Amino acid sequence: MTGPALDLDDTSRCALAESCERCGTHSDDLAVATAGTELGVYCLTLCDGCADDGRLPRRSAAATVRAVLAHCEHLDCDLDRMAATWRGEQR
Ligand SMILES: [Zn+2]
Ligand SMILES: [Zn+2]
Repeated sequence: MTGPALDLDDTSRCALAESCERCGTHSDDLAVATAGTELGVYCLTLCDGCADDGRLPRRSAAATVRAVLAHCEHLDCDLDRMAATWRGEQR
């Protein structure tokens, strides 16, 4: 059973935070970005500057797992499917 390909970078159902998750800026330039980690892909809100920079806020492993699980919900997939897709993309 295979559904349509899973786009881990799809942020159309992710929530935009009120401020940048890396520098805390409140601005109109915020956008949802995705970040790939060893644990999976999660979404986060970044301002223009931080998005350009490409660096990510520090998160504990537990916080990363929570963020990855939340992004799974946004994508309406389970963690196994995300992990399989993510490993496939890294090849
Ligand atoms: Zn920022
Ligand atoms: Zn998300």
